[in-house]
Amino acid sequence: MIRLDGVTKSYGGSIAVDDVSLTILPGRTTVLIGPSGSGKSTLLALIIGLELPDAGRIAVDEHPLTRLSALSLRRRMGYVVQDGGLFPHLTAQENICLMAKEIGWPPQRRRDRITELCALTRFPPTALGRYPVELSGGQRQRVSLMRALMLDPDVLLMDEPLGALDPMIRAELQDELKDIFGRLAKTVVLVTHDLSEAAFFSDAIILMHQGHVVQQGLFRDLIESPAEPFVGQFVHAQLRRLAMINERAMKIKKGRA
Ligand code: ADP
Ligand code: MG
Repeated sequence: MIRLDGVTKSYGGSIAVDDVSLTILPGRTTVLIGPSGSGKSTLLALIIGLELPDAGRIAVDEHPLTRLSALSLRRRMGYVVQDGGLFPHLTAQENICLMAKEIGWPPQRRRDRITELCALTRFPPTALGRYPVELSGGQRQRVSLMRALMLDPDVLLMDEPLGALDPMIRAELQDELKDIFGRLAKTVVLVTHDLSEAAFFSDAIILMHQGHVVQQGLFRDLIESPAEPFVGQFVHAQLRRLAMINERAMKIKKGRA
């Protein structure tokens, strides 16, 4: 379980995360959603200890997160950064193995784990020697996911993992990711700004706006009992977009019939 209590983080006088308290339950997928600039990425960076809060406390399974404990806690968390964050000068395999090598896993153990991960993420082993630029967007995301899962962490943090993909690849990877989350039964925190993605993945949902948590609970709570007017605005802006697509598609179909 991950707990944040009154966590605040500013950058040069402007507040990115403002007095956030929340609980992330183990073995579930929690979706962190909100408009651009609402503090989602900063919150993930705080949870994994890459940033330290100016105020408030973070605890992972009752262990307080401090500058000292951050490094060992980080090994128990896999992190897929926004835009993948693969090192361009390393091959897929080298990217995936970086941490395992650093902490001294022998080559055979690394090879065995990579074989497992290629099967899990349906990544072709023959492409492991390629550099990120030689992979498709979907393949790069699979490599990022394998890198995050390499040490078999308890927690998987993913920052807009599908944001840069075209719609068909995105839908395919959504299905596969959901299947992977179900099989691994890990604690997953997934960031998105897309409501349909949140509806698809979330066991629990946290909506952010201007550094604050506006609402946390179930997806249906956002629809049934919005905590404040912003929730309704956020939901309806996205529903309107979907309704417009639907309406156009229906008109086109009718015209053909
Ligand atoms: P989101 O991921 O929801 O788009 P971010 O957490 O990236 O939001 O950013 C929240 C706010 O904090 C934004 O106003 C952003 O400009 C600011 N911010 C984030 N990271 C930094 C940083 N390293 N330096 C300065 N400002 C930052
Ligand atoms: Mg972000």
